[in-house]
Amino acid sequence: MYDVVILGAGPGGLTAGIYAGRNRLDTVIIEQGQDGGQIALTADIENYPGQMLEGESGISLAERMAKQAEHFGVKRITDSIDSVTLNGDVKILHGKKDTYEAKTVILATGAFPRPIGCKGEGEFLGRGLSFCATCDGAFFTGLEVFVVGGGDSAVEEAIFLTRFARKVTIVHRRDELRAAKSIQEKAFKNEKIAFAWNSVVTEIKGDDVINAIVLKDTVTGEEREIKADPKDGMFGVFGFIGFLPRTDLFKDQITLEDGYVVTDENMHTNIPGVYAVGDVRKKSLRQVVTAAADGAIAAMEAGKYIEG
Ligand code: NAP
Repeated sequence: MYDVVILGAGPGGLTAGIYAGRNRLDTVIIEQGQDGGQIALTADIENYPGQMLEGESGISLAERMAKQAEHFGVKRITDSIDSVTLNGDVKILHGKKDTYEAKTVILATGAFPRPIGCKGEGEFLGRGLSFCATCDGAFFTGLEVFVVGGGDSAVEEAIFLTRFARKVTIVHRRDELRAAKSIQEKAFKNEKIAFAWNSVVTEIKGDDVINAIVLKDTVTGEEREIKADPKDGMFGVFGFIGFLPRTDLFKDQITLEDGYVVTDENMHTNIPGVYAVGDVRKKSLRQVVTAAADGAIAAMEAGKYIEG
């Protein structure tokens, strides 16, 4: 039986691993995909304390966090957990490969991109529609792309996409961005970036690839179709309209609010020995630095619980 099972290897889970490992707790981090969670989809991280000002990729930051956790003896397992029993002294997690038992569990399952909710979305995912500029931006070298959203992610990723795309149009449902002012300023200065204000995407169309997008004016209700330049024959659409917490696995056992896990300030959930950290948690600021802080606190609390 493990002392601590950490579900998810984003910044919250990896930091929990570093602290639990350093505290000599027998710890495993279980991740079903790539390390880093959402920062694995981020080209530049420039606001994590100690980062170089010009930023570094989310993947490389996550790699260093993972190495640090492994250095402290934390075990890494790739598995997808299908069901959990969190009540009781022994927590049981059933995965596709194995079953895991633990004295404590740290939920660090993060969040996933909110779907745009337009017609054609399922059909064109991976064929012109993407939720990851770092992964797919280069496919649109020399082409036009549309970025949906007006928050930090949308505007930062739009700026990143100008490295590849000829023109990037930010489609935002209001006439004012939500993104931090410093990020907005960079976008307004960038000659490759245009804006479709007061607009939402109602449909993406095409054959094999996207060659038309339908935008609806949120003020007048009018719809307009924008077709790809015939010379290009296609364009890209990137969605960045927020995230939804990944809680399906434990939503019947853990108290949620607005879909997010409720914890106290020490990351305790409603079940003794079960903690939640990072973006899956109800909180006011979802950043690498707050996920890391959550992870550190949860690991220390898990240690106290086991000793107690
Ligand atoms: P967000 O801050 O929740 O912004 C979502 C954006 O999408 C908003 O502009 C919102 O419009 C729009 N939106 C939401 N639902 C929509 C819908 N159904 N149709 C059309 N538009 C919709 O999400 P985010 O930008 O992904 O950021 C998530 C969190 O990560 C935030 O806390 C953010 O600060 C943080 N983050 C930080 C950084 C950084 O610090 N460098 C980078 C990336 C993300 P409204 O504005 O009208 O609500």
